[in-house]
Parts: sequence; C-alpha cells; structure tokens
Amino acid sequence: MMESDPKPAPEEVLVLNHNYQPLNITSARRAILLMCAGKAHPLEIDSRTFHAERIEIRMPTVVRLDYYVRRPVPILRPNRKSIFARDRYSCQYCGTTSGALTLDHIIPRDKGGSSEWENLVCCCTKCNNLKGNRSPEEAGLKLRKFPRRPKYIPYINYTRFLHAVRNPAWLPYLEPYGDGSQKSPERVVYYSSLQPA
Ligand SMILES: [Zn+2]
Repeated sequence: MMESDPKPAPEEVLVLNHNYQPLNITSARRAILLMCAGKAHPLEIDSRTFHAERIEIRMPTVVRLDYYVRRPVPILRPNRKSIFARDRYSCQYCGTTSGALTLDHIIPRDKGGSSEWENLVCCCTKCNNLKGNRSPEEAGLKLRKFPRRPKYIPYINYTRFLHAVRNPAWLPYLEPYGDGSQKSPERVVYYSSLQPA
C-alpha cells in the first residue's frame, strides 16, 4: 500500500482556544460564521476578502475563540498512522519517501522489542527485508534519528497537526506545541549507542 503525506487544503483556518491552544482546523466559511456570531476573533488575516450581503470581511487564517472550550486530553497511541506521521512518511533507515512503507519494530518483538513509540519506525519494504528479524546493528543499518514519543498531544488530529506546522501563517501558533523537528537538523545516530547498558 502506498502512503504519503496528506496534501494541504486551501481555505482552511486554524482555530485556537481562548488560551491560545490549537483546537481545530476548520473551513473559512465556518470560521467566518464563528466571527459573525461573536464567538471568535481573527488573529491572522490574508489579502483575500469575503463578501457577504453588504459587508466585506478579510479572510481569516487564524481565529481565537472568545470563550474557553474544555476538552479531555486526547490519547495518542503508537500505531501505523501516528508513527508514519511522526516519521514524515520516510524510511528511518534510508530516508526514502517513495515506494511501499511498513512499520518496523527496531528490536524485533520476539527478541523482547516493545510496541511503544521508542521501538517503532516507518520503514521501506527494501530496508525491512534487508533487516529481517534482526536489530539495526546486526543488520548494519543506521537509524536516521532517535524515535521518540511526541511531547505534545494536540487536540487536532496528530497527522493533520504535523502537516499544519508547515503552514507559515500557522507556525507561530503551533510551534510551541510541536516536536521541534521543523527547527532542529536531523541527527544521525546509532540506535544501539542510545540504549541503556
Ligand atoms: Zn529504507
């Protein structure tokens, strides 16, 4: 199965809670309805305008709710979808983003490897076949970066959140909640050297 990064949708608006926490991504139409109902104010607008009856509204790109929405903290489990999103749909051994991708247990399950964030990576089928039922060290493979549990679990769907960070208008509002990967260069490390002795 081919999987790739979802493409950006235009006309989307980032909705922040009253405390500035990213809450949702919605359509421009819904965001304008929130503004007209006095439930939200724009924080960022772009050059486009939206005409409704006799009024002209500048198109919002980020709005903030005028009231606080209380929501339970979502639970994000490591699964195929969330691991692929964390690893930006790229093989964590060779870096390819094309071809079939699969989920790799770094330390194989039957050798005691867990199904946690730290032991799962996105992997191309070529590297997966090469690795077989071995650790990366045994197979002579290097991980491109140390796999971690995401620091922040967003209210926005995790895959969409990681994608949304690439929108320059949204980045300042999302960055405090991101994993910092858009800033720090990729480190090349041997997984084995990071394992506790
Ligand atoms: Zn690969």
